[in-house]
Amino acid sequence: MRYSGFRVIAEALTGHKGWKPAWRDPAPQSAYDYIIVGGGGHGLATAYYLAKEFKQARIAVLEKGWIGGGNVGRNTTIVRSNYLLDGNQPFYEFSMKLWEGLEQDFNYNAMVSQRGIINLFHTDAQRDAYTRRGNAMIMHGADAELLNKDQVRAMYPFLNFDNARFPIKGALMQRRGGTVRHDAVAWGYARGADMRGVDIIQNCEVLGMKIENGRVLGVETSRGFIGAKKVGVAVAGSSSKVMAHAGMRLPIESHVLQAFVSEGLKPLIDGVMTYGAGHFYVSQSDKGGLVFGGDIDGYNSYAQRGNLPVVEDVAEGGMSLMPMIGRARLLRMWGGIMDMSMDGSPIIDKTHIDGLYFNGGWCYGGFKATPASGWCFAHLLAKDTPHSTATAYRFDRFAKGLMIDEKGQGAQPNLH
Ligand SMILES: Cc1cc2nc3c(=O)[nH]c(=O)nc-3n(C[C@H](O)[C@H](O)[C@H](O)COP(=O)(O)OP(=O)(O)OC[C@H]3O[C@@H](n4cnc5c(N)ncnc54)[C@H](O)[C@@H]3O)c2cc1C
Repeated sequence: MRYSGFRVIAEALTGHKGWKPAWRDPAPQSAYDYIIVGGGGHGLATAYYLAKEFKQARIAVLEKGWIGGGNVGRNTTIVRSNYLLDGNQPFYEFSMKLWEGLEQDFNYNAMVSQRGIINLFHTDAQRDAYTRRGNAMIMHGADAELLNKDQVRAMYPFLNFDNARFPIKGALMQRRGGTVRHDAVAWGYARGADMRGVDIIQNCEVLGMKIENGRVLGVETSRGFIGAKKVGVAVAGSSSKVMAHAGMRLPIESHVLQAFVSEGLKPLIDGVMTYGAGHFYVSQSDKGGLVFGGDIDGYNSYAQRGNLPVVEDVAEGGMSLMPMIGRARLLRMWGGIMDMSMDGSPIIDKTHIDGLYFNGGWCYGGFKATPASGWCFAHLLAKDTPHSTATAYRFDRFAKGLMIDEKGQGAQPNLH
């Protein structure tokens, strides 16, 4: 069923009896050509592009819980392509271009809102670093502007300009960045994949892998064994657990990241803003809540809930940037499990086991990557060669010293 304005009117006139479930609830078949483990944004996008762009069939997505229950439905919805390094920038710009046409492509309202993002800077050295980043973005075909303090003040006069411990000196702006309604992305890809024959199987946890003579033959699940010619794993924060079924130890740690939403306020912040002197980023949802977040909790965990020291740290960041936020009440908070890689950049690669492929290490920035990640993983699965924008995302970069250390923090996942 295609969604359209005409369809809404027709359904309104006939008592809304014609709407169908957005995707089927099929029983698993005994075998598929492709099994994608993980029904988050990346797994669903992979299945969608495998079917739509690479014309592959007999595809299943296996999800241990429900669609949208993982990080894809827990993030702070920010999308941007403001990366510095060659290994990253073309990939994230590819993703940004896919976001720009996504709703028409999968015929679903994902509320893609290019409301602009600004990264504030507070020192001369930070201005230099952001100038360099902006130039790298422009050279790769992305948009970037450097704003001075007066331009930032004209946009957000309520920021702490005059009495701040870390005075605001300006910002790097990407106007094409913004927000996208996160769970609608999962639903849109799920619906689009289902329409093209992909079986989306929820409540189906992968518990083991059958590997013989160096080749994967299928997966053991909570709903029985399912055979596959190729298995692609895209389980984000559960990467280490699932790949352990194949005997692999990954250069990835799992950490909790929290998100927060305030009570509904009148329109206040019409873009996305990040604080350059602490870890705090904020936007305002269409319902009026301030949606914000900060740093990871800082120690390994598989718990999808947060801890109070980081709540305090994030609140302090918000207070020092915009003191009036202290008068808003916090409505909700939650946590998600992040797949933190050693250099802060992802992996989209084959493994040493024939037919087994891996997608992960997204740290706390994988939502914006969802379309490109799905496309590039589908490319790798279908053609056995990496997509041109994802050639650097290899397992062996750690052994070869070819780290993509975007933050310049080294091999310390807790700092990325
Ligand atoms: C609080 C928070 C804020 C964030 N903010 C941003 C942001 O503003 N911008 C941004 O770009 N990124 C952000 N991120 C990061 C982003 O959400 C993730 O990097 C991205 O969503 C991960 O990919 P995914 O959508 O496929 O993950 P998920 O949605 O987590 O999908 C993985 C799926 O695998 C399933 N699974 C796990 N184990 C198994 C198994 N054994 N068998 C079957 N299925 C299994 C899980 O149930 C889950 O549904 C944020 C994350 C969090 C938690």
